[in-house]
Amino acid sequence: MRDLLTATEKKVERLAIMGGTFDPIHYGHLVTAEAVRYQFQINKVLFVPTGHPPHKPFFDVSHTEHRYLMTVLATVTNPYFDVSRVEIDRKGITYTIDTIQHLKQVYGEETELYFITGADAIHQILSWKDPEELLRLCTFVAVTRPGYHKNSLLKRIEELREQYGSKIHFLEVPSLAISSSDIRKRVEASRPIKYLLPETVENYILKFGLYQQTQD
Ligand code: ATP
Ligand code: MG
Repeated sequence: MRDLLTATEKKVERLAIMGGTFDPIHYGHLVTAEAVRYQFQINKVLFVPTGHPPHKPFFDVSHTEHRYLMTVLATVTNPYFDVSRVEIDRKGITYTIDTIQHLKQVYGEETELYFITGADAIHQILSWKDPEELLRLCTFVAVTRPGYHKNSLLKRIEELREQYGSKIHFLEVPSLAISSSDIRKRVEASRPIKYLLPETVENYILKFGLYQQTQD
């Protein structure tokens, strides 16, 4: 419903989707989304926290409402950023293709969809459900991420272009060696997480005692 309202408020020419577990959201996600928005003149970046991702065990992921609220807190200061509940409100395992098809319906054919993926995610894309359809429906933006080689990312992009004729762009974003798993480990070990993520999210983590005992 909320997606529908925001979509009809104003026509969106280019919508970028930033999918993730966001457990928790951090500056690596935010810097990436802002870089893509600027580079591709995106009208709106929609952060889509996953429901139950197929590749992560259920007990390993924080409650959907915590992840949703942290994503809202982190994005609230950017007028171009918005958060969607589409995946967290869907029952069962979440597949990206279902979300893309849903957003295509909500925003209409004229809206061009961009899907943002870090270097790690683009390597896994063929293991996602209906990758061909996914690559047909969206323009992908593969961004650099510390720990992943730029050359192997470029090679992967070229392969996907050749195999699927897909629209995949490469974008170098400011390097931030931050990951949610590292933040979770830091909280568990009582090490600082300050300056790795917005202060509001840091306070939320402390208030609700998240990640005191991680499963990693
Ligand atoms: P985890 O360590 O739990 O896997 P994560 O930090 O990788 O968490 P995700 O929610 O898994 O975060 O990632 C969502 C998307 O953001 C993915 O496409 C991922 O590649 C990208 N991403 C995450 N961190 C960065 C970063 N520091 N720089 C660039 N892209 C990133
Ligand atoms: Mg990840």
